[in-house]
Amino acid sequence: NVRVRFAPSPTGPLHIGGVRTALFNYLFAKKHGGTFVLRIEDTDQNRYVEGAENYIVEALKWCGIPFDEGPGKNETYGPYRQSERKHLYKAYADRLVAEGKAYYAFDTAEELDFHRKDHEQKGKTFIYNWHNRLKLKNALALSAEEVEAKLAAGQDYVIRFKSPQDETLHLEDIIRGNIKIDTNTLDDKVLFKADGMPTYHLANIVDDHLMEITHVIRGEEWLPSLALHVQLYEAFGWEAPKFAHLPLILKPTGKGKLSKRDGDKLGFPVFPLAWKDEKTGDVSRGYREDGYFPEAVVNFLAFLGWNPGTEQELFSLDALVAAFDLAKVNKAGARFDPDKTKWFNHHYMQEQPNHLLAEQFKIAYADKLNAIDTAYIELVIALIKERATFVYDFWDLGHFFFETPTELDEKAVKKAWKEDTEDLMKELVLVIESVDVFTVENMQQIIKGWITNNNIGFGKVMMPLRLALVGALQGPDVFEIMFLIGKNESIQRIENLIH
Ligand code: GLU
Repeated sequence: NVRVRFAPSPTGPLHIGGVRTALFNYLFAKKHGGTFVLRIEDTDQNRYVEGAENYIVEALKWCGIPFDEGPGKNETYGPYRQSERKHLYKAYADRLVAEGKAYYAFDTAEELDFHRKDHEQKGKTFIYNWHNRLKLKNALALSAEEVEAKLAAGQDYVIRFKSPQDETLHLEDIIRGNIKIDTNTLDDKVLFKADGMPTYHLANIVDDHLMEITHVIRGEEWLPSLALHVQLYEAFGWEAPKFAHLPLILKPTGKGKLSKRDGDKLGFPVFPLAWKDEKTGDVSRGYREDGYFPEAVVNFLAFLGWNPGTEQELFSLDALVAAFDLAKVNKAGARFDPDKTKWFNHHYMQEQPNHLLAEQFKIAYADKLNAIDTAYIELVIALIKERATFVYDFWDLGHFFFETPTELDEKAVKKAWKEDTEDLMKELVLVIESVDVFTVENMQQIIKGWITNNNIGFGKVMMPLRLALVGALQGPDVFEIMFLIGKNESIQRIENLIH
């Protein structure tokens, strides 16, 4: 029974790398009929940010990848916030201490800093492990009485994992295969702190075990922790889950990791939802607010590190679930391409029902569209959506359906206005007036008939007509435009052009 978890720390808004991790967990769970768990890793109280958890939940909801278990939902293995589980962890640290697999250490931050600098000066790196631990202030170097005395005196301590000397670890990663690690490069990581809080490592392993997680799917930045995690499972005598570390997401140039600041610099969002930093007041843009459809965001995120091995690029969430395979995820960093996101959005725009688009358009341009019938807006959208990427584009593409053009594009005037245009337009008005039943077909037939019968030439009529209706030489079919704005308005616009 597959159980996976997304375990973000609520230290700020979730960036798209985090959403991709959540998505891959979700896809893997659904593919195998498993369970997708959300666990909030909030043991580091210094980095806790108000509102971040809420943001994470909202972001998953907006993307359409809801969790099956988590805070406030199916809490069989709960609680799902580590701060609410903090009473649990000490016993596990104690157990490792009792078994000689971990130990108390009393070195102060200043002392550790001193050792670090001292080593540096000698051209060496300070590693807190068997090289050095016997020279430091910890239970392996002090007598049992000294340790007792320090604890009794309430001195600050940490509990460290005792990493082995001269061993080679063989780690397995679904994406990366076999990884060899020399334990002499590892330090004795802190598992528990005097403030009564476990570190990420201990809490993460204990919870993955207690929540019966079968597969850990997370970002590449956690790969250096894998050796410790595997050793912890062994130390506790627990079966370790399988691991998969997802590739980095790279900047659009392909050089370097995509950072949270790249979006504002290069003009695209790197967050699913907009986020306001309460301290600085800065607002970071989000895909939702920028007008992206969640389907487009999910589709493009899926391709950051994965591909189906075919030419197919468009995948609904269900199709992704069916096609997804962790073993097909790449090791190499995935280049982020904001233009591709737009391409996806354009595609999903075409699939949206027009009444939903009309509602969104009406909200986005409330000042201009408030009084306009939604059914009319739907008809307009049907004509222009083919050229739109965002709902926001509708105004530029179709403002002339809602207001009489007041300015004419100068280049278009030069191109369309000829000596005989005025006379032709006067005649055209008469022709339009003669169309009794004002349908697209009737107009086409009658106006085109008039042009051909009089040998006028299409451009000579159609260009200035379009100019009159739109104010420029772009836009959808002129007959469709006239049909929607109506006979009187069409004639009025032609007259505006002549006068
Ligand atoms: N709390 C860690 C994070 O913020 C979780 C890492 C993991 O999945 O093990 O990403």
